[in-house]
Amino acid sequence: MRRLVARCTLHVARLAAGAALVAAPLAAQIPAPEAVLGFVPGTERRLVEWPVLVQYFQRLAATSDRVQIRELGHTTLGAPFIVLVISSPANLARLDELQAINRQLADPRTIRSDAERRQLLDAGRTIVLITSSVHSTEVGGHLSPMQIAHRLATGTDATTRRILDETVVLLVPSLNPDGVTIVSNWYNATLGTPAEGTSPPELYHRYVGHDNNRDWYAFTQVETQLTVDSLHNAWHPQIVHDIHQQGSFGSRFFIPPYLDPVEPNVDPLLVSGFTSLGTHMAWEMAGQGKRGIVVNATYDAWTPARAYQHYHAGVRILTETASAALATSIDVNPERLRGGRNFDAGTASVNFPDPWGGGRWTLADIVDYQASGALSLLRHAAEHRSIWLENFLTVGQRAVRGWDAWPWAFVIPADQDRERVGRMLGILQRGGVEIRAAGAGFAVGERLFPAGAWVVVLRQPYASFAKTLLEVQEYPDLRLFPGGPPRPPYDVTAHTLPLLMGLDVVTAMDSIPVLLSAPAPLPMPHGPPPVRDYARARVGLYRSWTGPMDEGWTRWVFETWDVPYRTVRDADVRRGGLRRRFEAIVIPQMSARAITQGLGDAYPDSLRGGLGEMGVGELRRFVEEGGTLVTLDEASEWAVNAFELPLRNVLAGVPSEDFYAPGSIFRLELDASHPIARGMPASSIAWFENSPTFDVLDSARVRVIGRYPANPDEVLLSGWALGPDRVAGKAALVEARMGRGRVILFGFRPQYRGQTLATFPLLFNAIR
Ligand SMILES: [Zn+2]
Repeated sequence: MRRLVARCTLHVARLAAGAALVAAPLAAQIPAPEAVLGFVPGTERRLVEWPVLVQYFQRLAATSDRVQIRELGHTTLGAPFIVLVISSPANLARLDELQAINRQLADPRTIRSDAERRQLLDAGRTIVLITSSVHSTEVGGHLSPMQIAHRLATGTDATTRRILDETVVLLVPSLNPDGVTIVSNWYNATLGTPAEGTSPPELYHRYVGHDNNRDWYAFTQVETQLTVDSLHNAWHPQIVHDIHQQGSFGSRFFIPPYLDPVEPNVDPLLVSGFTSLGTHMAWEMAGQGKRGIVVNATYDAWTPARAYQHYHAGVRILTETASAALATSIDVNPERLRGGRNFDAGTASVNFPDPWGGGRWTLADIVDYQASGALSLLRHAAEHRSIWLENFLTVGQRAVRGWDAWPWAFVIPADQDRERVGRMLGILQRGGVEIRAAGAGFAVGERLFPAGAWVVVLRQPYASFAKTLLEVQEYPDLRLFPGGPPRPPYDVTAHTLPLLMGLDVVTAMDSIPVLLSAPAPLPMPHGPPPVRDYARARVGLYRSWTGPMDEGWTRWVFETWDVPYRTVRDADVRRGGLRRRFEAIVIPQMSARAITQGLGDAYPDSLRGGLGEMGVGELRRFVEEGGTLVTLDEASEWAVNAFELPLRNVLAGVPSEDFYAPGSIFRLELDASHPIARGMPASSIAWFENSPTFDVLDSARVRVIGRYPANPDEVLLSGWALGPDRVAGKAALVEARMGRGRVILFGFRPQYRGQTLATFPLLFNAIR
């Protein structure tokens, strides 16, 4: 109660006025979410904007001695980015000490004796980071954190008390607060119209939309940076629980273990950890009568883009609850239920023991599953605190000792492009990797390095983060059945930074006898791009109402590298006169259907229809009058057909058994004499993700700027590719003349997720 008096002046007067209030149970004064929202979280068709949610959490923190609120910074659009710290009052009173204990457990080199180790393990608490609603259309995630926080703030049962005593919960109610407001505004504006329950006609994160949870090693967005810098790296959580939603017609709830493959640098103890914790949650929730829970299905654990903590001694517990239509309930016909990878909707199995039979599915169901999942997770974290802390320490000890099969170090020569080296080392350093500089020259095999070369020794707590990002990925050849089609990865298969950034990195298998400096601080890019006025820009970037992520990434790259551009909407294109306004127009990666037809019937007239025939005609006129049209990846396939360009996509209609590359790094050979390849090496990379590849049908009109190597064995640099002979020697980047202008067709993504710095110059040169 003393805390209450200290923090809330309103209550000071009341407490002074009546002793009875002092004796009243604290819970009675702690507001339930409905006291601020005006409705119970999960109520049909009710969503609110981010500031209302923040208001609730502020009131909760002001009235509960178990809850603190901290503002970590501001989002891309300037909203407060917050975390709640929830634990017992006794733990909150020694929070700095608990943080310091965990920092030591995270780095075994700081522990000097067995006695100290035992003391730290005894005094420490399980640190659990819960993150919600990174994907803003998964609207249960806007609401369930209120249920979770309120329960922890008010519960008097033994389980809640144990959670509070044994853990410190860091609850981020939204990893994308801007999106909470974007989606709730759209939902509320369309209630009762045919568009009710549809996705908004824009990205729900200003730049990257749904890709905002693919940013956990590139750290391009300010929300990622705040979470990594202020929470992951400050607290080193043993468990990170990420609350998501999936489609409406599969399982009701997914919990790890993940599907294979697990990326091979993830410590096996973490695999055991997410398996133990996930199956515990599935067991406990089944006991509560929740049906349709699946484990070991659909979601794999390959890419570090979604799992920072798997390289930082923690486990990631992803949960995916079935969706309704935003906050509007749906009726699921049992015949529409379908399975997914490794389960069948109608068949009970070990990993899916109790199929859900269909029927009504509501926002209340979603919030209920999500909140129950989180509380079950916290119960495991509390009841097994000693195992969580011991195993956390063990993972760190193994990393510091080093793994026998691993190289000793990676060496990054200093005499390379400074900006790209800075960005790559900045990523590693933000990920907690210690980077040293060689004090003198040294040799690795035959190769000599002058003093100043950067060295990343793989004997340190976060060596696995460095290793996975600096080495080449070899994705296993997984098939749906022996000899059958490939089993698709959940995301992409390659993340080799030196390739993505066009940098030379050398693997040293044996130790290097050279004096290494202390870890050196490097400048880290931070914060959102500055807002610039590009009103006079002569480059147009097509922005569809379908909200393609590649458009957002392109915008982010242009703004970050200060490339002037203006957004071009469907109506701007249809209006014509493009050549007067633009020198170049970029169509980012999107399907032909999205480009030409846009949003469907459910949306208001002003947003529907895409470019339409009229818009395509105006783009043709723009090129014929001397403009440059730049098309990226799948949009290039559209351009070939729309303008009848003398090119043929050699992969059209090829079954996946014969050719497959779902997000891989290919080698690209460039014609250095072409202006678009200016400043580029003869051999670079192409980010290939189910992309088109071309045969040239009329070499008088089409000039090849980049192609894949003629030798199929040289095509794949990192990731997975089946049948690379299909693209060997074929065109990947071409210039096609049309009238007085030209179309530059990229058969890959030169600005992939803001990461492919190696090929940014190709895009920048194309619009010059
Ligand atoms: Zn999601």
